[in-house]
Order: sequence, then C-alpha cells, then structure tokens
Amino acid sequence: MENTSKFKNIFKTLLKNIVNYLFPPQCPYCEKIIDSKQLLCDECYHKIHFIQAPKCYWCSVPLPIETDTGEKMLCAKCLSKRPLYDMARSVFVYDHFSRLLILKFKYYDRNDLRHILVHYLLKAGNDLFDKTDLVIPVPMFWLRRLKRQYNQSSVLAELLAKKIHKPYYPDVLYRTHHTETQTHKTSKERKQNLKDAFQARHVELIQGKRILLIDDVLTTGATAESCTKVLKKNGAKAVYVLTVARTVKK
Ligand SMILES: [Zn+2]
Ligand SMILES: [Zn+2]
Repeated sequence: MENTSKFKNIFKTLLKNIVNYLFPPQCPYCEKIIDSKQLLCDECYHKIHFIQAPKCYWCSVPLPIETDTGEKMLCAKCLSKRPLYDMARSVFVYDHFSRLLILKFKYYDRNDLRHILVHYLLKAGNDLFDKTDLVIPVPMFWLRRLKRQYNQSSVLAELLAKKIHKPYYPDVLYRTHHTETQTHKTSKERKQNLKDAFQARHVELIQGKRILLIDDVLTTGATAESCTKVLKKNGAKAVYVLTVARTVKK
C-alpha cells in the first residue's frame, strides 16, 4: 500500500516536471517565462497595487497613512452609513493592471489564473475565515453563464472553499433575470438595475450561518449589498465579502 502511494507521488512529480518543461509557466500579465514557484514575474509584481493598511475596518478602502493610529478605523462613507454586509476585503486596487488580470481570467480562457487569484484571496481575507460557515459566489444569470461557459466568481469561490475547508454552495443565491452591465452606471442607477435581481433557495442551508460571498470586483458595493439583503432576509447571520479588486476613488 505504502509502495503504491510512493510510486504515485514519484509519477505525479515526474508528470509535473514534464508539463513544466513542455509548457513553462508564464507571467499572467506580460507572458514572460517564470519560475514555477513564482506567481508573477518580478517586474509585474512591483506594478500591482495591493490594498494595504491603513484601511477601513468594514469596507477595506485604503485610508491616508497619516490617519493610522493602529486602531480599527472607518472611512467617511462607512461612518456616515454602515454597509449592509458585515465586512469586505479585497486583494488589489482596481486599476489598469488588476483589470487586465481579471479580464484575462474572465474572457481569455486563462482558467489556470484561479490558483494565483485564490492565493491572494487567501491572504486578503485571512481575518474572515474563522468567522465563515460557508462560501457562495455572486451568481451569474444562467443564460449568461451558458454563453460564457463559466462564472468566474464560482470558480474562485469553489477553490477557496476547498482551501479553507468550508462548504461551498453555488446554487443558494441566484439571479432572477438578466441585468445590464453596471460599468457606466451611477450608484443610484446601479441600485435600481439590481432591484429584485437576486433570490435565495434551499434557505435552510443559510439560516443562522455566516456567509463568505465571493466576487471579482467591488465597485460601489451595490451588488454586494443586494446579495446581502436577500441572504439576511432569508436568515443568514452575517455576510462577509471577498473580492479580487475594489475601486478606490483618487
Ligand atoms: Zn510579468
Ligand atoms: Zn469603509
């Protein structure tokens, strides 16, 4: 038995080395060949804008350095009105660099990027996982998913759930209809566009539970808040939001 698993491991390593030799890992941004232990080439790594402290305790928006007191601080927006979700964390500032990384993952069949993105999601959300009971993605309307072949938020949520050993429920939350893209809409228009866009089913799975909601980008927070509203109305105890990137007003 022991010999069989030893043989399997040797075979796996050998196979991995052959694949690496034939298809060397590339930097997802500039496509330069990189070391298999690297996630991005050195040059690109320095171009990424990670969201770092000091940041808002609730929504994670970066705060000016001079305001850092080491205490839990809140941004002006959260101070004037607390978001419906309980906390949000994001890896990158949404800029030219992170946008391209997400677009490659979404549209250019670079499903392999999920490992890199989840690696960073695990770092950015590390204070949420102890509080998490289950993981769900922001859903895509089924017709859109059919066209796109996969929902990128589901791909990330599934892998992340596996890494943090929490249940993954992709179907609890769903979109009731197609919603227009939010890209060029104001905050008010986004809310209107998303009105009744989400519903929950198998609600017994979420009652009394603390949910980690996964999405690619947090912009105004309208999508995260619409999802939170439905989840809490159906008995969820808390909703934490974890996204790859978030917009930051200059
Ligand atoms: Zn690069
Ligand atoms: Zn905030």
